[in-house]
Amino acid sequence: MTFRRKRIPQLWQRGARERRGTVDAVTASEPTPPQVRLRPEIAALPPYRQGRPAPADGFKLSSNENPWPPVEAVASAIAAAATEVHRYPDATALTLRERLAERYGVSVDEVLVGAGSVSLIAQFVLAAAGPGDEVVYSWRSFEAYPGLVTVAGATSVQVPNRPDHGHDLDAMADAVTDRTRVVIVCSPNNPTGVPVTADEFERFMARVPADRLVLLDEAYAEFVRDEASVDGSSLIGRYPNLVVLRTFSKAYGLAGVRVGYAIGPVPILDAARATAIPLGVTAVATAGALAALEPANEEELLGRVDALAERRDALRDALIAQGWEIPVAQGNFVWLPTGDRTMEVAEALFDGGIVARAFPGDGIRVSVGERESVDVLLRLLGELV
Ligand SMILES: *Cc1c(COP(=O)(O)O)cnc(C)c1O
Repeated sequence: MTFRRKRIPQLWQRGARERRGTVDAVTASEPTPPQVRLRPEIAALPPYRQGRPAPADGFKLSSNENPWPPVEAVASAIAAAATEVHRYPDATALTLRERLAERYGVSVDEVLVGAGSVSLIAQFVLAAAGPGDEVVYSWRSFEAYPGLVTVAGATSVQVPNRPDHGHDLDAMADAVTDRTRVVIVCSPNNPTGVPVTADEFERFMARVPADRLVLLDEAYAEFVRDEASVDGSSLIGRYPNLVVLRTFSKAYGLAGVRVGYAIGPVPILDAARATAIPLGVTAVATAGALAALEPANEEELLGRVDALAERRDALRDALIAQGWEIPVAQGNFVWLPTGDRTMEVAEALFDGGIVARAFPGDGIRVSVGERESVDVLLRLLGELV
């Protein structure tokens, strides 16, 4: 009896035979496997780059994280919530919404909680803008904006920052056309640190048609010390088209559990809720956020924020004294407009133990982190200026 082998050129078989060196020229004519049909604009998106890990005894200053680990009571609340993770979370994070509604003097329906405020921005853009629609924002601004506009199928309209690295709100209002569905204002702007003033924002809102959604992204609101800056919490209820976004990731040190919130008019929030992936906010995350809002814990956390704001101001002053041109910095980071020298400076920082976020050809964003990181940073940058 003879056994006949079927000649099916399976990739794994071929690989094995290639390794044994028994495959001849047949492979050359092998058809390439068909490419899965993807949306071309999605396939062209740059892959997400996580900040590089810090070298041993170096500092990771690339993601604007809070350098302190959670306060004890917050960590305990998260650990306690972990014993219930066999249950689905409350779909609308009602308890947290109640707490936030009380704080901001609004109804629970005017608060939307998401898995980080980046998710919420994506939800609002999806709710308002699709193919053929435009989303206006400043540039350079938050790296996440271009991708989430593309995912919605909409078109980004990027308005260059002013020479002082702040938003050019007049030019942004000029950029609003019939196609515009959303305008994103980031204050203080990530990565440049410059806030929008309350006056500028008011003039801007007066120019934007009331049927276009304005998102005020205030991820760093708690770090702002400049009294003239816009404060979204004082604008709630004043405009039918304004949504204010905040997060527990930065000031409250909860970046790892993913929780942020939006406050705004109910119909807009309802639309954004409809675009969410259900149950994205975990009970572990809401437990952490609720604990962070407990008065004693919040006092401790905001004390850390004060320390970071002072550290930031001292760092900026010292860098300016070294001869760097540093824009106004109201977040938990500073911006070095290094232009063509960006990669050179970023590599030198890395070699010295500091991981910063480099935007090639443009500049470097350095988070205000551990106290000990400041001396290292100043020593390295003092040599590079
Ligand atoms: C960090 C950040 C956010 C919020 O991030 P989440 O962790 O998703 O809450 C939003 N906007 C800007 C500009 C940020 O820098």
